[in-house]
Amino acid sequence: MTTISNIDLHSHTTASDGALSPEKIVQRAYARGLNVLAITDHDLVAGVASAVSAAQEGNAKLRAHAPDMPQEDFLYGTGTVTGVERGALERTPEERQLTIIPGVEFSTLWQEEQIHVVGLFVDITHPQLLDLVANRKEARQKRAIAIGDRLARLGIEQAYERCVAAALPGAAITRGNYARLIFQDGKAKTVDDAFHRFLRRGQPAYVPSEWGPVDEVVAAIKAAGGVAVLAHPRRYNISNQRLRKLIYEFRQYGGAALEVASSQQKPTDREYLTHLCEQYDLLASLGSDFHAEGPYRDLGQNIDLPEKLTPVWSLPEAQKFGLEPSFKQRVVHVSYKKGTAA
Ligand code: AMP
Ligand code: MN
Ligand code: MN
Ligand code: MN
Repeated sequence: MTTISNIDLHSHTTASDGALSPEKIVQRAYARGLNVLAITDHDLVAGVASAVSAAQEGNAKLRAHAPDMPQEDFLYGTGTVTGVERGALERTPEERQLTIIPGVEFSTLWQEEQIHVVGLFVDITHPQLLDLVANRKEARQKRAIAIGDRLARLGIEQAYERCVAAALPGAAITRGNYARLIFQDGKAKTVDDAFHRFLRRGQPAYVPSEWGPVDEVVAAIKAAGGVAVLAHPRRYNISNQRLRKLIYEFRQYGGAALEVASSQQKPTDREYLTHLCEQYDLLASLGSDFHAEGPYRDLGQNIDLPEKLTPVWSLPEAQKFGLEPSFKQRVVHVSYKKGTAA
C-alpha cells in the first residue's frame, strides 16, 4: 500500500540523469494521475520546454477525448496494480489536466558537502540563471570526462560517450548516469551497488566536484523569479547540528522552503523536517526525486505533506504558472503486487 500525490515538485529527465525523456515523463505523470509536475534536472533547464509542450498537447487531447491518451491506471514500474481507492479513476478530462512547473536542481558545495538546491517557478530564459547553467555545464563536462577516463581504466569502455548518447543533446552527465550504465553493463548488481563500488567518495572512479556556494544559487533562482527549496535535507551526511546551521544560512540567503516529503523516506525523517520547517519559519515542498522506474521511487509516490505546514505554492511566484495558493494536494491510496507487470 502506498500513496500517489497529484503534485510532485522534483523529477529528472534525460536532460540529466533521468531515464525518461521529457515527453515520456509527462505520459507517466498522466498515467499516475498527477496535476502538477516540476521538472528539476541537475544544473540545467533543457528538459522543461519539451515537457511543457507535451503537457499542452496532452491536455488538449484529454479535452477532445482523444483515444491515444494514456489511461489513468496508476501504473507501476515493477509490479501490478491490485487496487486503487474507490472513485480515483473516475476523473473528468478537466480534473486530469497537467501543469508543468519549470525547475532546476543546482549542486552546491557547503562546508565540503554536496548540497542540492531546487529552484521552482523559474524563468528559464533569465540571463543570471543561464549564466550559472553555463558555468555548471563546463564544470560538469570536465568532471564527467574525468570520471569516464577512470572508468575506462577499470574496464568500462567509452562510458562518457555512451552516457552522452543515451541522454538528450547537451545533457548534464552526473554520477547517476554512470551508475545506471555500470549496472546495465553487468558490472554491478544494482544501480546503488554501482554507485557504492565505483562512484562515491573513496572509490576508484570518484572525481571531486567544485560546485559553487549555496548563496550564489539562491540568488540566481530568485533573480529568475523563482523560489529556492533545500532538496532532501535528510540525505546529506551531516549531523543534525550542521543541518540546522545549513538551514539557518539557507534562510538568510533568501531560501524559502524545505523539501519535507520525499519518496523512500523514513517517517521519523519527515517528522523531523516538519519540526524544522516550523522552527525556522520556512515553507514546505514535496518531491519524489524520480529518476527511473523502480519499486520505491516513482512520480507522486509517498510524498504526502503534513497538513499543518504551509506549502511552497502559497507564494505568488507559483501563480505565474497557474498554481493557486488554494491548490490542495490530494493523494490516492494504491496497492501493488511486486513482480513483472502483466
Ligand atoms: P553528481 O551530481 O554527479 O555528483 O551525481 C549525483 C547523482 O547521483 C544524484 O542526483 C543521484 O541521481 C545519483 N546518486 C546518488 N546516490 C546514489 C546511489 N546510492 N545510487 C545511485 N545513484 C545515486
Ligand atoms: Mn540525480
Ligand atoms: Mn538531489
Ligand atoms: Mn534530484
